Amino acid sequence: PRVYLNGEFTPLSQAKISVLDRGFIFGDGIYEVVPVYGRKPFRMAQHLARLERSLAAIRIPNPHTVQQWQDLVGKLIETSDAQDQIVYLQLTRGVAKRDHAFPAQVVPTVFGMSSPFARPSAQARENGVKTVSMPDERWLHCEIKSTSLLGNVLARQFAADRDVPEVVMFRDGHLSEGSSSNVWVVKDGRLLAPLKDNLILEGIRYGFIEDMAAARGIPLEMRQISRAEVDAADELMLSSATKEILPVVSLDGKPVGNGRPGPVYARLREGYDEAIARL
Ligand code: PLP
Repeated sequence: PRVYLNGEFTPLSQAKISVLDRGFIFGDGIYEVVPVYGRKPFRMAQHLARLERSLAAIRIPNPHTVQQWQDLVGKLIETSDAQDQIVYLQLTRGVAKRDHAFPAQVVPTVFGMSSPFARPSAQARENGVKTVSMPDERWLHCEIKSTSLLGNVLARQFAADRDVPEVVMFRDGHLSEGSSSNVWVVKDGRLLAPLKDNLILEGIRYGFIEDMAAARGIPLEMRQISRAEVDAADELMLSSATKEILPVVSLDGKPVGNGRPGPVYARLREGYDEAIARL
């Protein structure tokens, strides 16, 4: 497959960066993951707005206009025959002599690729997924979609070691998120979500689910959620570009609600599939 690197499309095997790239040396970069359905990007404007916010947060100059980013994503989609794709974009603070402080002259490294998107299995959608809990040991700027992902990598491996696809993390007794997903709680027909603050990444699906809840008359509360509330939940759900929206049927070996995907999940899943079909 062909990938994009610093202005050119090249075969993946020929795309090379310097070992002094600050993405390699410091994890000094940010990224985006845009799902594509039927060759059309889903919620592209929101993804590009978040890319802009991530760049601003770590003070990397944005090398492209929105139009240029849209054109690049369009060209990345053309590199693949797949109908459904995952477009990955990454920017780092470029190549410089090793020094933690920013270099005087920054030429960001810009990388893009598209891969076929294996959507969640019917098994996961219909029967749900298992999760385990763990303390959230990450830093205090989880709102930045940074490539410094060691905390997330260790959390995802904590799940893998226990043969489940995702963790549910808690910080100071409150729900934060998964290793690479947002987490949703349902209690008495109400949808609960952690605050959009510095302790979670605001998923593009977070906004989408907010919109769907409003359109479908599902009451939504965004606030701190205690461990006790998670344990007493009627439903739990995960959302991310690659998981879309998935029901969680167990946490630490205990069933969530009645142990089956619930009615609020079913309504949101229907909304998700409708939005994709309309793209
Ligand atoms: N939280 C974290 C830590 C993530 O890495 C992700 C993305 O994969 C999400 C939440 C969900 O974000 P999105 O819906 O934009 O994929």
